[in-house]
Amino acid sequence: MKTIYVDNNATTQVAPEVLESMLPFFKDLYGNPSSIHFFGGQVTRHINVAREKVAALLGCDPMEIVFTSCGTEGDNFSIRGVLEAYPMKKHIITTKVEHPAVKNTCEYLAKRGYFLTELSVNKEGMLNLDELRESIREDTGIVSIMYANNETGVIFPIEEIGQIVKEHNIIFHVDAVQAVGKIPVNLKNSTIDLLTLSGHKLHTPKGIGAQFIRRGTKIRPFVIGGHQEKGRRGGTENVPYIVGLGTACELAMKNIEKENVYVRRLRDKLENSLLANTPNARLNGRKTMRLPNTSNLSFEYVEGEAILLHLSELGICASSGSACTSGSLEPSHVLRAMGVPFTAAHGSVRFSLSIYNTEEEIDYIIEQTPPIIKTLREISPFGRKELKESLK
Ligand code: PLP
Repeated sequence: MKTIYVDNNATTQVAPEVLESMLPFFKDLYGNPSSIHFFGGQVTRHINVAREKVAALLGCDPMEIVFTSCGTEGDNFSIRGVLEAYPMKKHIITTKVEHPAVKNTCEYLAKRGYFLTELSVNKEGMLNLDELRESIREDTGIVSIMYANNETGVIFPIEEIGQIVKEHNIIFHVDAVQAVGKIPVNLKNSTIDLLTLSGHKLHTPKGIGAQFIRRGTKIRPFVIGGHQEKGRRGGTENVPYIVGLGTACELAMKNIEKENVYVRRLRDKLENSLLANTPNARLNGRKTMRLPNTSNLSFEYVEGEAILLHLSELGICASSGSACTSGSLEPSHVLRAMGVPFTAAHGSVRFSLSIYNTEEEIDYIIEQTPPIIKTLREISPFGRKELKESLK
């Protein structure tokens, strides 16, 4: 059975160029970059080149990049590191639709004496910036808002948000894990103080991330240890993965525009066809201002999990929301925050494409999905009853 992978917001295939660039560091170039001898020094040079490549993609200074292990670490580092640096600041502003890496970190802090404001979203998944303005307090220490939502692909107006945040001189953290590599992100002249990215969403293996820390931003290290990363993140550097991330950023920089056009066309074809050929189907999240690769669709009166299992039997790998929350029968917190009706939130499927998807794969999904939904509705007493009601 052929695997058709359309779950790229969960993780991505490692690009062959990325893997190729990593291999020497598993074999010959195994020195420790902290060592004084030449063998360590040559490894340091490769780390610095990778740092330059990440910085080039983001439009920042290489010295503003710190390598981490993943997006979750970067999110924790940003939020907890800033609050520790400003002990009098006890208020955090975030949104109701953040990834658990931010959401659970903020909720953890809220149980330990911090005050938390979670901004709401409308039915299209967009924020109300007046609510942000009204939420800002004297003791607000950090505003942490994602660039693009992992479940719906909805992109927030980050620079407009940042203008409001910076009028109050508050530190602005952006979880850009889903944005970097998919849409242009430029930190030059930006209001962003801290930005988190994760390699495995842009074709590196899992286990590497990077953190942008604008020069002059006060932040305490999260991983405390040696003097690596100029004392900002302890732990011997994950050299092969850092080199791989550098290559992935270089590829993204070169290809992002043409990949966007290609992926968007396939995504739109899939989305338009499924919406047209399946009764009681809807798009979750706004149609414009959205990642070009993401489509979150609800097929009312069926269980999303059941759809996914049937798709999986055909080799089609999609998802019902964030990989970290699937497995729970609760509808997604993102769709609930958007006010998606219960019957639709339960039947949601996220298709997230990449440059490695082909037209034939999309045609296959288009052909196979509607009959699955039809069969599931026929065998589900819930589906039959509710569907009849809605079609009256
Ligand atoms: N933030 C967002 C928006 C994500 O989508 C993810 C992963 O899905 C993360 C953070 C966590 O990244 P990582 O898997 O690298 O820890």
